[in-house]
Order: sequence, then structure tokens, then C-alpha cells
Amino acid sequence: MSEIRVDLYSDTQTRPCPAMRRAMAEAPVGDEQRGEDPSVNRLCAEVADLLGKDDAVFLPSGTMCNEIAILVHCRPGDEVIADKTVHIIIAEAGGPAALAGALVRPLDGVHGVFSAAQVAEAVREESRHAPRSRLVSVEQTANFGGGTVWPRESIDAVAEAAREHGLALHMDGARLMNAVVASGVAARDWAAPFDSVWLDLSKGLGCPVGAVLAGSAAFIGEAWRWKHRLGGAMRQAGVLAAAGSYALANNIARLADDHANARRFAEGIAGLPGVAVDAARIDSNIVFFDVAESGRTARQLSEALAERGVRIGAMGRTLMRAVTHLHIARADVEEAAEALRATLRDGA
Ligand SMILES: *Cc1c(COP(=O)(O)O)cnc(C)c1O
Repeated sequence: MSEIRVDLYSDTQTRPCPAMRRAMAEAPVGDEQRGEDPSVNRLCAEVADLLGKDDAVFLPSGTMCNEIAILVHCRPGDEVIADKTVHIIIAEAGGPAALAGALVRPLDGVHGVFSAAQVAEAVREESRHAPRSRLVSVEQTANFGGGTVWPRESIDAVAEAAREHGLALHMDGARLMNAVVASGVAARDWAAPFDSVWLDLSKGLGCPVGAVLAGSAAFIGEAWRWKHRLGGAMRQAGVLAAAGSYALANNIARLADDHANARRFAEGIAGLPGVAVDAARIDSNIVFFDVAESGRTARQLSEALAERGVRIGAMGRTLMRAVTHLHIARADVEEAAEALRATLRDGA
């Protein structure tokens, strides 16, 4: 296979830059499990402040943030209400069922966004026959919705419906900072209605490892028990947390470039024969497109593109996903669009 020059597989493909590595190398460290790592404590304070919550806990991954939040909010047999495309349903190895014993009720949202009416309809009547509705989870941005930024009004309405029915609210904010940059709405304003919310450091923010889960002091106290139980309590984790503090200081505003490049890529492929994409709907750094009309599968095109040095993921039989990030410049998305044009023209 040719060398990949333009990697649009995911925003997880970044490498820490020299300045981030320096911050990691120089980080003061201690025993994280005992609350004695100054760099972890600093990062948690920064994220709690950013998200307007009492406290936060550093975890190895976003998946662990989601799973621990579900473990804290739910008892076995409880039900989580979420869009059908969310990460907790499609990409966490059945964690809600396997770990918390929770069901997830998938809602048929539009590009990952559901309505207050759908929540109200999904809530179970109190009955010894039914699972107990417990939690509403919102993914901001909606990854498999196409990087959709949930509109503020939709979140407010969903939150109100959840509260009316006594449900807790969780935000999967893997790409919350993309939503912040795309919307101009502050992170703490997005987070305000939620009982738990987290940020991924290893997506658009460009860190090698880690995520931070925030909430009330009581919620984080319980989350810490699960972190420990699941083996997520670490030791001198400050070398990882320092990358997070570096990213919060340096890598947020630049997410706007990723969004502009994603839009540019969508516009570049919009007219290609056999490609269906709605360039006007690109809210952030993710571009889904359908290649059904090309007569080839997503996997065939993905492999042909790799021969031309461009990696774009096959996410379904005819669905492809391109994600822009820290290492992708405007010239790269233009090269990727050109590679797709050439692949469709020449066959593969
Ligand atoms: C990547 C992702 C996660 C999981 O994060 P990891 O750090 O990869 O475990 C959760 N939710 C969404 C929406 C994601 O894109």
C-alpha cells in the first residue's frame, strides 16, 4: 500500500506536536490515585471551570467517561434515552448492558438530534413491568449524525422534558469544543443543563490520551469509585494531563480551521458523479458522504484512495467519513477531493 499523506480517517490520528511533548516532559507529577498529581489536579480544575461544574476527574478515554457516567446514573434494569447513532450504542462494545446493566432506548433523530416530544414519548410509565427511564444522553457534536452541532433550542427543550420526567442528563462532549467554536456558545453554557459532561482530549484537541468527566462534587465522588474499580486510577498521569492543559491553551481556537477545511472538502466533492453529500450541512469537522450511485462500495473506494495516499474511512456499505484535524491543511483537503475525483474517473 502507498504511504498515506492525507489521513482523514479520524481526528484521533494526530501526533503530539513538539511543544506539547515538551509540556509533557516537564510536567510536575505525583500519585494520581491519591490526588497528589499536580498536573492532573490542574487539568481537572481547568475543565471543571471551563464546563461550569464543581469538579472533574481525569480518565484514560472518552468511552470510560460515558460508561462511568452511566454506571453512576443508572441501576441495573434502568433505561438510557439517546439517538440511534450515538457512540454508546454503536461503538462501546455493549458497555451500557455489560457494565451498568442498562438498556439504551434508541430514538430516531435527524442527523443525531432528537426532540423533546420524542423524549416525552419514550419515557416509560411507572410500572413493575417496564424498565425505569433514568437518563437522557446527548452527543455534542453528533458524530454519526455528521458532526451536527445540536441547536441550543433543541438542547434546552430536551433538557426541560428530561427534568419534567425526573430524568438525569448526560452530555457526550467528545467534540464539545468543536460545537463551542462552531456556535460561539461557551462550553459552560452548553454544559449548564447537564448533570454530567465530558471532553475528549484525544480527538480535535490533539492529545495522545485522555478525557475529562465533570459534574457535581457528589457525582465525581461516585465516578472516582468506578474509576478505581475499573482500573482507571493511575499513578504519575501528569505527563498525560499536561498535554491536556497544553491543548486547552493552544488548540481550541484553531478548530475553526478544521471546520473550514471540512466544508471545503464537502464543496470539492459535491459535484462528483456518484457522490451524494450535502455541503451546506457541514457544521464542524466531519463529512459523511454516500457513494451508492458510483456503483462501488465504500470499502472499494477507501482502498483505491489509499493507493493515492489518501485515507478516508468506510463507515457502512456505501457510506464514507472524512474528518479534518490538526494535521490537515486546506491543500490536503483539496488533494483528497482531487484523489476522489481521479478514483471515480479512472476506476480502481
Ligand atoms: C471517540 C468518541 C467517543 C469515545 O472516545 P474515546 O476517547 O475514543 O474512548 C465517545 N463519543 C463520541 C461521540 C466519540 O466520537
